[in-house]
Amino acid sequence: MIAVRINEDIYSYDIHSLVKAFFPAEEVKVFREGETELDSTEGLPELFLYMEENGLRIRLSDGERELTEETGDLDLSERIAYKNELKKALYRILSSYTGVELPWGDLTGIRPTKIACERIKNGDSDEDVMRFMKDTYYVSDEKCRLAVRIAHNELELLKDIDYEKGYSLYIGIPFCPSTCLYCSFTSYPIAAYRKKVGSYIEALKKEIDHVAEYMKGRVPDTVYMGGGTPTTLSADELEEIINYLRAKIDISGIKEFTVEAGRADSITREKLERLRKLGITRISVNPQTMNEETLGIIGRKATAAATIEAYELARDCGHDNINMDLIMGLPNEGTVEVRDTLEKVTRLSPDSLTVHSLAIKRASRLAQMIDDMGYETMKNTDEIMKMTEDAAANLGMEPYYLYRQKNMSGNFENVGYARPGKFGIYNILIMEEVQSIVAIGAGTVSKRVFPDGRIERCDSVKDVNLYIEKLDDMIERKKNLFMGFAE
Ligand code: SF4
Repeated sequence: MIAVRINEDIYSYDIHSLVKAFFPAEEVKVFREGETELDSTEGLPELFLYMEENGLRIRLSDGERELTEETGDLDLSERIAYKNELKKALYRILSSYTGVELPWGDLTGIRPTKIACERIKNGDSDEDVMRFMKDTYYVSDEKCRLAVRIAHNELELLKDIDYEKGYSLYIGIPFCPSTCLYCSFTSYPIAAYRKKVGSYIEALKKEIDHVAEYMKGRVPDTVYMGGGTPTTLSADELEEIINYLRAKIDISGIKEFTVEAGRADSITREKLERLRKLGITRISVNPQTMNEETLGIIGRKATAAATIEAYELARDCGHDNINMDLIMGLPNEGTVEVRDTLEKVTRLSPDSLTVHSLAIKRASRLAQMIDDMGYETMKNTDEIMKMTEDAAANLGMEPYYLYRQKNMSGNFENVGYARPGKFGIYNILIMEEVQSIVAIGAGTVSKRVFPDGRIERCDSVKDVNLYIEKLDDMIERKKNLFMGFAE
């Protein structure tokens, strides 16, 4: 465990995130000075941060080495400036101790593209934006370039959407064929929940009735059916939800209707044909990896061959905007396995690729596996990220959205690549937090974006039974969240 001691109970979340980024395999604990005495940190560094009115001192010691950083001329009451300098000083000391430089520098808790978008909108040149990111957060040249490139693509896409007037609708289907090792989403095995599906669909319909009411006068821009794996439902069940939605809410002018058909073991010709007939414009068929051994380890039952077959079936049924999700940093995967996956995916030629860096969530079974297999077996690298970037470029794709999560392998990012005209609009709207999202279903989060940029959220319970039982409460809370929105 790495102990961090602070004299003031401020910025502890940022401090924790940054220390964890340098020591992903270690537990990191932040204590107020004098709060707890530890027996031993077993040769691991201990950090002391003294935040004072007009300066800052950091000391790192592991019994053998001792490093210090001091920053004077700071004003603790200037919160943002103080925090930036604190993170920079902490980054310098940790980088010097570990010999590691993080691709996104000390950037935690802020979306890199948001910084770039705002600065570009304010008239800064690309060079100015990159210099700012480098000087303020120590972001690498390569990642500065990526953020700026994506910001331009996002701004270009958003310029034709009157997103403040509209909204997006998210429909959560919390069932999957089995639970993947790394899963931290709301997902329940369909076999065990089959009997609940009918009441779950009824609950969704009731939510749709109310959305039609409280969003009356507003037209959605995009609809996204995710989860879970929506295609665990039968073709008739999918049709029932989509037709009900069409009957209650005018979605005739939407720009995109995505259905995640993520797992090959949930895909059939009948479902793909029905989705096409129902006007679904974009689907996802997600291999994550084409390596059979890894698929076994991560608990995805479908083989790589089944994913290829499902993808070809989707093309055969006329789907002309297919995304594929990949994960880098999966157990025991290195450049050889990733190259093989990328070659197979390239042969399929999807319209978009979403490349994730494995994120280790405490709630997932993966966290336990790391204890057993060791952190080193799940590693993403610069070389691997470059391979994915090259593969996307070879497929004629541009990076168009990016987000980062806590505890990502290698401290990289998730990037969405797409061919021109095939960008996932919902992804940009949700990631840039520029549009309100009405989310229905268990474990979903609705979000209202106010004209002044303020954001309020309302989440639904994750448990399917509880969701059905407490539906009226949740509808009421969403009504309150969106009160006055449609006027
Ligand atoms: S397919 Fe997605 S939602 Fe379903 S178990 Fe796997 S990671 Fe979770």
